[in-house]
Amino acid sequence: MSVVTDCIFCKIVSGEIPSQKVYEDDLVIAFHDITPKAPVHILVAPKEHAPVSVADITPENSHLATSCLEALAKIAKNEGLTGGFRVISNSGPDAGQTVDHLHFHLLGGKKFGPGFGI
Ligand code: 5GP
Ligand code: ZN
Repeated sequence: MSVVTDCIFCKIVSGEIPSQKVYEDDLVIAFHDITPKAPVHILVAPKEHAPVSVADITPENSHLATSCLEALAKIAKNEGLTGGFRVISNSGPDAGQTVDHLHFHLLGGKKFGPGFGI
């Protein structure tokens, strides 16, 4: 597995940095965001370091993104987000991506504003 030693999320996958894990399978890990922006704010990421963002998804690695979305659907159900939820994936500096390891933000537990306001 591709592991990048100075990547925060690789360190969370290896257990070097502790996290509040809510889901794990062979390919995917999910844990609570350290600075939640909603009552439910969970990060869903492949255990592999590549791709680093949605911009890096290719036919060779797209199964990792699909696995994240499958996990996300299960987690949303487990968290009781029956009224809906929001999924965000920041890609690159213009989007404000701060961790260069593909991840999806699962946000829920409140009613969001219209459009993209959090
Ligand atoms: P991005 O800004 O790349 O879209 O999202 C990165 C997210 O990772 C941020 O929401 C930030 O709060 C979260 N984060 C950064 N460091 C840690 C950490 O050590 N543990 C956890 N659980 N979340 C982190
Ligand atoms: Zn990584």
